[in-house]
Parts: sequence; C-alpha cells; structure tokens
Amino acid sequence: MKDTKLLPPHMPGGEPPAGAVLADRNKLSHINTYGDLPSHYVDYPFVCEDCGVAQIWTAEQQKWYYEEAKGHLWAVALRCRPCRKQTKGDGTNIGEQP
Ligand SMILES: [Zn+2]
Repeated sequence: MKDTKLLPPHMPGGEPPAGAVLADRNKLSHINTYGDLPSHYVDYPFVCEDCGVAQIWTAEQQKWYYEEAKGHLWAVALRCRPCRKQTKGDGTNIGEQP
C-alpha cells in the first residue's frame, strides 16, 4: 500500500510520469500542509457534480490554480466551466484561467 495520505488523491506522489507538469514548490509556500507538497501534476478526470458530464482538470490548469491563483491544495475541480459560470458566487474559480 502506498503511503500518499499527506497529498490529495488527485496528486499522486512518486516520480513524475511522462506528460506530467512539474510543480514549482517555491510558488506553493502559501500552502500550509503537514509537510508534503506535490512534485508534479497530472490530468485529473472528474464528473461535473451539476450536469454529470465527464471532464478533465488538466495538469496545466492545476499548476495555474495552485501556483498562480494560490488555491488550496485540497481544493479540486467539481464543476465544468459552463456550470461554474451559472453558480458564480460560490467562491470557487478552479481552472478558470484568464
Ligand atoms: Zn457541468
């Protein structure tokens, strides 16, 4: 059993696989974890909780969200872009790149 409980489930630890986007840990200093930070991001498939459409939260979007938008490490994308627009005001803008 892998011991990755210090990282969220969409952030696998270990060696970055092919196609992974490397994390810049200097930009993750706003995140107060119990000691672990991701070394890389990988595409994260999820199902929009509003419309039920399968989505991919890409590694690039995650990097932007955590490193530039200073998102919380344990926050994950829950809705697709159209549904996020309909529910603006819920405080999340995950993956909403400018
Ligand atoms: Zn949706």
